[in-house]
Amino acid sequence: MSTPLTGRQPADRELALEFPFFGPDHDAFRARVRERLAASVLPRAEAWEERGAIAADAWKELGAAGLLDVGHTGEDFLRSAVLLEELGATGYAGIRASIGVHAYMALSYVLMFGSPEQQAAHVPPAHRGERVTALAISEPDAGSDLRDLATRAVPRGPGATAGFVLDGHKSYVANGTGAGLLVVLARTRPPAPDAGAQRGLTGASMLLVDADSPGITRRPQPMVGWRAADIAEITFEGVEVPADALLGRRDRALMQLMRALDFERLVAGLLAVGGVRHTLGLLDGHVRARRVKGVPLASHQSVRHRLGELYGEFDMVRRYAHHAAWLHARGRLDTRTASVLKLRSTELALSAAQACAQYHGAQGYLEGSAVARLHRDATAGTIAAGASELMRDMIFEAS
Ligand SMILES: Cc1cc2nc3c(=O)[nH]c(=O)nc-3n(C[C@H](O)[C@H](O)[C@H](O)COP(=O)(O)OP(=O)(O)OC[C@H]3O[C@@H](n4cnc5c(N)ncnc54)[C@H](O)[C@@H]3O)c2cc1C
Repeated sequence: MSTPLTGRQPADRELALEFPFFGPDHDAFRARVRERLAASVLPRAEAWEERGAIAADAWKELGAAGLLDVGHTGEDFLRSAVLLEELGATGYAGIRASIGVHAYMALSYVLMFGSPEQQAAHVPPAHRGERVTALAISEPDAGSDLRDLATRAVPRGPGATAGFVLDGHKSYVANGTGAGLLVVLARTRPPAPDAGAQRGLTGASMLLVDADSPGITRRPQPMVGWRAADIAEITFEGVEVPADALLGRRDRALMQLMRALDFERLVAGLLAVGGVRHTLGLLDGHVRARRVKGVPLASHQSVRHRLGELYGEFDMVRRYAHHAAWLHARGRLDTRTASVLKLRSTELALSAAQACAQYHGAQGYLEGSAVARLHRDATAGTIAAGASELMRDMIFEAS
């Protein structure tokens, strides 16, 4: 079981310190989100972990609870920042990833680059939880380095209305088996034969693909952690994709990805901050209660110091996350800020999970324990949405 969201958590101190990013309206929104997550998510979370996915019927409930349609831009995004942190604080990284990919990461491509017709067709059902979205970018041989992208969408003819035939293989796709809409990265123009290492991502496009199209095969790819995230591999074999499935301009995916991936890192960072808060809440409660050598663990200086370091880093990363959300709300999020947040929040989540596991001793190593789940889940945070090494490269290049 996870600790209740309403329990004592180090970050609940002095919310007024959140000024100037958040005010009383955000505090009220945070309280509402906690109530809704406690009602719609926590009671079923263990069952979804076991099942490997959020139950199909639960998505509509999440939509009705207003958890899938909070804004991606402007002042509204500050409410999203609150929602994402609270979602992370459920302590279930698989669930937070599933909802984060659906409502933010995948949907952001439709909202940023979709035509009014595409937005009208795809956004309302996603907001209502009637159709789940997934983001299919990674491939077995193209993860950190997308220059090896092999999925191809070959135009069926010279005209703009001819559509494409899609062939390829995507892996590690969250919401992969349950999604109705796939946002797919594919080459729409083959790289020049002599391009070699320079082949890059020019000539790639983003496509909106109906997941039930003939020629699509989806297989679960269960992971060590993030168990409720419905991770799957997806094969496309001669899939006919209509011309109006193209998102934005053809062959321009590189430009789109640069913008969308910064947003993805911001979302991943906010979710991870919530995850750290949950982990530290669990750890704090444990070291104050568990007695070793006749005194609580928290009486030992080495333990106090380790937790002091973690709390201090958490305070800094959390405020940085809010600053990044505030920048995004003003249309000023930059690659360096997004990458710093993604790197530091997910690495902190891993350190916090390791400390949490260590100080729980054997009980934290029991299969089925919340501590073991946090530990498993934290590793994936430093890989998904861009590995830590890639973030360090991005920060260096942007500096
Ligand atoms: C739980 C989970 C969910 C995911 N969900 C999705 C999804 O919904 N959609 C999707 O498209 N993809 C998804 N992914 C895939 C994810 O984006 C990739 O795993 C990630 O981009 C890394 O690619 P890779 O796994 O191929 O690792 P590789 O690119 O093979 O890299 C392996 C390791 O090499 C190291 N490395 C990488 N780059 C460098 C460098 N420049 N310098 C030094 N070391 C480096 C890192 O430690 C990295 O982990 C998910 C992955 C996970 C684990």
